[in-house]
Amino acid sequence: MKTQEPFAFRLKAVSMTFPEKDGELEALENIRFEVPPSQFLCVLGPSGSGKSTLLRLLAGLLNPTAGEILYPQTRQPSVGLVFQQANLMPWRDVWANISLPLELRGVDAKEIDERTHEMVELVGLQEFVHTWPATLSGGMAQRVAIARALIQDPDLLLLDEPFGALDAITRERMGGELLRIWELRRKTVVLVTHSISESLLLSDRVIVLTHRPGTIRLDMLNDLPRPRSEETRYDPHFVQLSRSLRKAIQ
Ligand code: ADP
Ligand code: MG
Repeated sequence: MKTQEPFAFRLKAVSMTFPEKDGELEALENIRFEVPPSQFLCVLGPSGSGKSTLLRLLAGLLNPTAGEILYPQTRQPSVGLVFQQANLMPWRDVWANISLPLELRGVDAKEIDERTHEMVELVGLQEFVHTWPATLSGGMAQRVAIARALIQDPDLLLLDEPFGALDAITRERMGGELLRIWELRRKTVVLVTHSISESLLLSDRVIVLTHRPGTIRLDMLNDLPRPRSEETRYDPHFVQLSRSLRKAIQ
């Protein structure tokens, strides 16, 4: 077995300021927390609290203007990103969308074939490999996006309101799917969501950001026992945690 690193990443007094026409916009201020490997972390917060900025920092797409982000390995970890919109290539079928990251990296055909097959199975799209994106439902398209994010076996899976555009029932089902995948793959996951109940059904921990500039209002362990189900919503402890989160967001 691989020796377990003590943490997946650590933020040390991270701030992010964007230049504006007349001054600066402080998006995140003095964010500090550490995430252990394989943790499922949810980030909640009002619109404009810097949630997406936080993910872009973790993805290495932005550099903090102050503080630093540490990883156990000295290199930037590999990341899989999933956004609210699946952003699939309309001229490539499901199979070719999932395999794209490996093609771009010049991986050999046999390996592309094997890994794409594995991802298709993982997200349950066996019957849709030759389907065009235009004919997929929102939930199906997000499955493709998740498979595409995981095909490179990233160190971190970062999801920015991935189910925000789905109807409530599909959203619940996709949450369950994501959980099943996480249990199989044990990636470190950071999921940004607006939904308190989604965060409680999925995560090990929930961080709530304040309104701009985003600071940590609450860093809460989610100790609801797993496996969780829709029934968990009626657990008195769920109700209690959900009340704490609601209070922190207001
Ligand atoms: P959230 O995802 O929580 O809604 P964001 O991280 O998208 O918040 O944005 C936080 C704040 O930073 C917002 O006020 C937003 O307008 C600003 N912001 C985000 N990205 C940029 C950028 N590239 N340039 C200037 N301002 C930005
Ligand atoms: Mg956002």
